[in-house]
Amino acid sequence: MLQLVNVESYYGGIHALKGIDVLVKKGEIVTLIGSNGAGKSTTLKTISGLVKVKTGNIIYNGQEISNKPAHETTLLGIAHVPEGRRIFSKLSVKENLLMGAFSVKNKNVINERMERVFHYFPKLKDRIEQKGGTMSGGEQQMLAIGRALMMEPDLLMLDEPSMGLAPIIVEQIFEIIKELNREGITILLVEQNAYQALQIAHRGYVIQTGEIKLQGNGYDLITNEEVREAYLA
Ligand code: ATP
Repeated sequence: MLQLVNVESYYGGIHALKGIDVLVKKGEIVTLIGSNGAGKSTTLKTISGLVKVKTGNIIYNGQEISNKPAHETTLLGIAHVPEGRRIFSKLSVKENLLMGAFSVKNKNVINERMERVFHYFPKLKDRIEQKGGTMSGGEQQMLAIGRALMMEPDLLMLDEPSMGLAPIIVEQIFEIIKELNREGITILLVEQNAYQALQIAHRGYVIQTGEIKLQGNGYDLITNEEVREAYLA
């Protein structure tokens, strides 16, 4: 479904991705783990078109998408839930969700999608008029994921959905990620919470200073000595 081939990218003079290869097959949960500053967020931004690809290729469903702008990758079915959630804090839950369906004109379709979001996150329905910025961290994360679901993505990219959340909320979010995947959405998950991410992932990649250091299925990585020492300690 998605393939990154020798992808390099920069922030000015900073060489953030130094030629990475990543494969995400349809139906999988793939996780990228690694320390702070390793290049995980940059990988997602490069896929969604927020950071330029300097060299290499990004192929999505057979089509070259490197350097396509973010609104185009969105329309192709790639949803990116950024780190720190970035919901519209002054807008209500409903308005935030509507922003996710910006390209849809048919009201019935929008309502159906919103009901589906409420199926995953019933709390959002109870809080439909509440301003996004007054929600708890966990609710904001749910809203951010809900907004991404409003465009019915084929590939959902989540950047640190567990960040700053209480363990019980993290568990709920991971359960929902698994459920979304069971219902057919392919997931690319960036996490510092390597243990939990590897538990739900079919496969994973370890990124270190802009390069892929290790890859394997979830079980292999979780039991790998190097991974245990560096990321699961
Ligand atoms: P974290 O979990 O801390 O966000 P990460 O693995 O997602 O880590 P990235 O955010 O992708 O790491 O950062 C990769 C490298 O690029 C780091 O050296 C970082 O300092 C640098 N970088 C990231 N964003 C920018 C930016 N906007 N301008 C300049 N350098 C940046």
